[in-house]
Amino acid sequence: MKKIIDQENLNQKKVLLRLDLNVPLKNGSITDETRINKIIPVINFLIQKKSKILVISHVGRPKGKFNKDLSLKPICENIEKKIDKKIILIKEDIFNLKKEDLFENPSDQIIFLENIRFYEGEEKNDIYFAKHLAELADLYVNDAFSCSHRAHASICKVTNFIPSYAGLQLETEINALKKITTEIKKPITCIIGGSKISTKIGIIKNLIPNFNNIVIVGGMANNILSYKGYSVGKSLKEQNCDSIVRDIFETAKKYSCSIFFPKDVLVGKSVEDKSEVKELNEITNDDLILDIGPKTILEIKNIIDKSQTVLWNGPAGYFENPNFANGSIEIAKTIIKKNKANLIYSVAGGGDTVAILNQIKAVKDFNFVSTAGGAFLEYLEGKKLPGIKALN
Ligand code: ADP
Ligand code: MG
Repeated sequence: MKKIIDQENLNQKKVLLRLDLNVPLKNGSITDETRINKIIPVINFLIQKKSKILVISHVGRPKGKFNKDLSLKPICENIEKKIDKKIILIKEDIFNLKKEDLFENPSDQIIFLENIRFYEGEEKNDIYFAKHLAELADLYVNDAFSCSHRAHASICKVTNFIPSYAGLQLETEINALKKITTEIKKPITCIIGGSKISTKIGIIKNLIPNFNNIVIVGGMANNILSYKGYSVGKSLKEQNCDSIVRDIFETAKKYSCSIFFPKDVLVGKSVEDKSEVKELNEITNDDLILDIGPKTILEIKNIIDKSQTVLWNGPAGYFENPNFANGSIEIAKTIIKKNKANLIYSVAGGGDTVAILNQIKAVKDFNFVSTAGGAFLEYLEGKKLPGIKALN
């Protein structure tokens, strides 16, 4: 893997820089800036080298169509303030752009293209789209570790057409994860939650051989509860997952890994509701499971107490409403307490997981915090990430 930091001649070179600026937005304002803060170093590095920087990123899931609510504008404005430099955001269709037209004014140094997922070719890893992107610059840098599990045009295919390098943050993340996978102390526990059930549920089975305990919480747990025969009402749930869940339990038996799921829950009638504690057999058709209950929290605390290493991805509840943030906060507090006493090695990953840790100012109390969610889990599975493979 060639690294941009080792590159000598970057003066006036046009650098296509893939970042992950997929920050949480609420009514057009940024609610967590961690991902932005992590990429400031690579931008400053390229500024110092006098490169011409052409940034591409996605935010949200526009699914190949223009969506005015998912513009990179608020993100550009935020970065502009942080680096104290002007950023030009080009809204024009990427296919109408030519390399010669970019950075026409000698003082232009940073240009952003609009949300790369406005284009169908991005998620399809489309060869023509990738080639066109590559033709806009002299070299390419991937500093989006958290997107590198995606075989998308701006992550993978683009590297076929242009000299490609690893960015600063990408390297830091890989080094930290390498350390975890090689110097691990057992018992090791993985806590997995959140809402991206379809992307994460398949991963659990592959994690089993490497873990002593897997704790499933958040929206992820609803599929387990439903498999176990409980009604989950209107709760978030992925269809047709029963065979995957059955596989999880069978594989766990084979490897003596304990699978843990909620024993009680907090429900509401809507996500804005106040919370009510319920036993699993009390959930009604109009209930939404939005957090784990007190008994479950106690059991998870016990598991963490017996662990030497904990990895955590995915909130235990709908933490955007403070009434359903308690499960995640209690998990964080338990880990932090052990971490401060040097009794555990702790790693957390995922955009939303990091957002909670920021809310309670706990990021520094973990050994490592990655802004990657899916990529973090797939790396732990032992998979070769497509974006990393493309750089090699
Ligand atoms: P990460 O970004 O940390 O990888 P995800 O993106 O998978 O995590 O999931 C985060 C989202 O999951 C948050 O918006 C949170 O509100 C939501 N969530 C967690 N538990 C539930 C639940 N029981 N029902 C609905 N949403 C949930
Ligand atoms: Mg997320």
